Amino acid sequence: MTRATKTYVSETVSRLKPSGIRRFFDLAASMDGVISLGVGEPDFITSWNVREACILSLEQGHTSYTANAGLMELREEISSYLLRKFQVKYCPEGEVLVTVGASQALDLALRAIINPGDEVIIVEPSFVSYGPLVTLAGGTPIPVRTEGTDEFKLRPQQILQALTERTKAILLCSPNNPTGTVLNKEELAAIAHIANMHDLLVISDEIYAELTYDENYTSFAAVGGMRERTILVSGFSKGFAMTGWRLGFVAAPEEIMQAMLKIHQYAMMCAPTMAQYGAIEALKNGEHDVEEMRKSYRRRRNYFVQSLNEIGLRCHMPGGAFYAFPSIRETGLTSEQFAEQLLLKEKVAVVPGSVFGENGEGYVRCSYASSLEQLQEATKRMRRFLLQL
Ligand code: PMP
Repeated sequence: MTRATKTYVSETVSRLKPSGIRRFFDLAASMDGVISLGVGEPDFITSWNVREACILSLEQGHTSYTANAGLMELREEISSYLLRKFQVKYCPEGEVLVTVGASQALDLALRAIINPGDEVIIVEPSFVSYGPLVTLAGGTPIPVRTEGTDEFKLRPQQILQALTERTKAILLCSPNNPTGTVLNKEELAAIAHIANMHDLLVISDEIYAELTYDENYTSFAAVGGMRERTILVSGFSKGFAMTGWRLGFVAAPEEIMQAMLKIHQYAMMCAPTMAQYGAIEALKNGEHDVEEMRKSYRRRRNYFVQSLNEIGLRCHMPGGAFYAFPSIRETGLTSEQFAEQLLLKEKVAVVPGSVFGENGEGYVRCSYASSLEQLQEATKRMRRFLLQL
């Protein structure tokens, strides 16, 4: 076979679709005067004391690898953070692992537990990585479609309908990206009941745990009996405004942790050392700054979601993260048409709901991690856009 007709790329990777978010970023980046509500990251710069701790570590010459699982001091801080925040106890020695973002934690969790053909239930709409990561780990993602009319809550009945002999785990995300939906303690307990009855693991992506605006939030691991079934994934990107640091963590019972550690030590060695020094400071002294950021997001959420509803884009009040997910059904446009036309005509970038799964069609994701002035201008432009339709 000649070079021209042969592909060297694996069939699994060839079949993966590229992430749909990128195309809009690239288009928006090529235009002037765009207000971007597209990106999924905080608009804050990491707190100075955290940056300073990182700089100090470099000055002191801490430039080598750390232990595979991460600096012991950081694992201890993570362990006391989880205890303080959720009253759930993890041993820093064998149950906590520092990763390259929550992204790597998700990848490790899936690769550690999936046998070929195992099924993992994922919520749809959800974060774009879940399906591909399950596939890359050799499993089959099984989407469970949550409904806009039900504020995109994952309901026990929907999980029961998706269960088969091959179901290994549920991948939960609360607060959810892109819907902002938070599952409260009672809703988590109902899912826990199914996990117990059907002997399932739960990978709980809690990357937005710091950005919840409702007192009734908790970690899935803190729900009665669930610690042993939970792989708790979290990190510093969102709540601590540290996306570029690439630092996350995973907490899990020892057997699963040992499996994840094995993959991690071959594939990654350890997370970046200087970022780990920054993260120690973030956990030790970051509470006040996180609270200030949370208050600021809450204010912007209240303003923006109310404004969307006022201009005719129906949107539930999201309990967490920094996303609003309004319905654009009444415009008669697909979410992709809506996003493209809004960008070209009014220079506001949003993400079409369809990139988050079939069930995201009819919605767009707007990040409100922008200044109030920008949000005001964006809603003005969106109103004008809707009037022109
Ligand atoms: N999970 C969800 C739900 C996310 O939205 C993101 C980031 N967009 C991640 C995980 C990955 O976060 P990190 O930067 O820690 O890799």
